[in-house]
Amino acid sequence: MKNVLIIGGGLSGCTIARELSLAGISSVIVEKGESIGGKVRSYGCKADEKCNNCGLCAVHTLWQDVENDPKIQKLFGSSLVDLSGSAGNLHAVIRTKEGFFDDSFSDVIVATGFEDSACTGAAGYEKDSYNRVYTGAELEKLMKDRGSDTLFSEAPKSAAFIFCYGSRTLKERAAYCSQVCCAYSTRAAKVIKHYYPDTEVVLFYMDLQAVNPGNYAKELTDRGIVLERCRPVDLTFDGDYPVVSYEDADGKKKRQFDYLFLNTGIHPDVPNNTAIADITGLKVKSDGFLTYVAPPSVSGIYLAGTAEKPMNIVGTMANARNTAMSLINNSAEVSAV
Ligand SMILES: Cc1cc2nc3c(=O)[nH]c(=O)nc-3n(C[C@H](O)[C@H](O)[C@H](O)COP(=O)(O)OP(=O)(O)OC[C@H]3O[C@@H](n4cnc5c(N)ncnc54)[C@H](O)[C@@H]3O)c2cc1C
Ligand code: SF4
Ligand code: SF4
Repeated sequence: MKNVLIIGGGLSGCTIARELSLAGISSVIVEKGESIGGKVRSYGCKADEKCNNCGLCAVHTLWQDVENDPKIQKLFGSSLVDLSGSAGNLHAVIRTKEGFFDDSFSDVIVATGFEDSACTGAAGYEKDSYNRVYTGAELEKLMKDRGSDTLFSEAPKSAAFIFCYGSRTLKERAAYCSQVCCAYSTRAAKVIKHYYPDTEVVLFYMDLQAVNPGNYAKELTDRGIVLERCRPVDLTFDGDYPVVSYEDADGKKKRQFDYLFLNTGIHPDVPNNTAIADITGLKVKSDGFLTYVAPPSVSGIYLAGTAEKPMNIVGTMANARNTAMSLINNSAEVSAV
């Protein structure tokens, strides 16, 4: 009989738990937080006058399905502290709020996700002191809590987005593209423009990832959103108001905005990944994400979701389903032998 241990109860962990359950396999989710769902649970719909395909609807009833599924045991405020044995008989020691307990599992899935606030401190200013600046996670919360026609206490005259904030920069050891922030930010920009047609919305971008098929840049400029291709060189404040310094074809410029949104992306939680790698025998790559040392069919240790690399919601769910399928197929092969 299979019994699978899943470390992390975010989107990837929950998707796998549910797929396994539908295949008749029980699992235990070890979640360090106090609820399932991870980051996605606090994201908001980004429809303007119509759905903008942000991916959130793909989650559908997953949280309730996992919460109500008797084949999925949920341990909150918990972590894996030791793992020994081999595929088919992995012995885990788990710390819970009540104390330690140990059990044997056929397989272990690492679905520990990414770091939320990796780049705000490193980027050179104290984010918490400024309430007119939003990180990506705060923008998501703004979208979630929005009224039917209001986002802010009063209509802003201007709003700017800085793309690739903390991504694609060697300074922050994140040379990669986070994959998701062009999409969530431009969808949110459309919502701002929809609520406040007179607000000037400027996107400071280096690269615009394809978000919808067709000419996406035109879709934005047709709405009056301004695309400014450059990486701002400095961010300062005039009182509470953010001031962006940048350089375009006409030379150096400085502009104050009512609101500033930082496209913070998907970053590896390196200390967490290192601790997990030490326990499970996975490896931390040079970019900080986790990877395999031995094939999961041999080790019984599987990886899923953004612990491995940046992925959006639909990509994470597809990746998690693939992981569940290979685990199920591997067990089928083992039983056939
Ligand atoms: C600002 C922002 C906005 C985004 N908006 C969108 C969007 O609109 N559309 C879209 O498609 N994608 C979006 N994404 C991407 C989306 O967030 C990810 O695809 C998704 O969160 C990945 O889920 P996950 O399970 O891999 O990771 P997570 O959501 O990080 O979940 C990991 C879970 O593991 C738990 N955990 C971590 N370490 C441990 C441990 N050691 N022990 C136990 N538990 C642990 C965590 O508490 C968490 O519950 C956005 C990303 C960002 C950064
Ligand atoms: S949550 Fe996202 S996918 Fe669902 S209706 Fe809103 S914009 Fe569309
Ligand atoms: S998704 Fe867009 S904003 Fe995010 S790192 Fe990639 S190019 Fe930059």
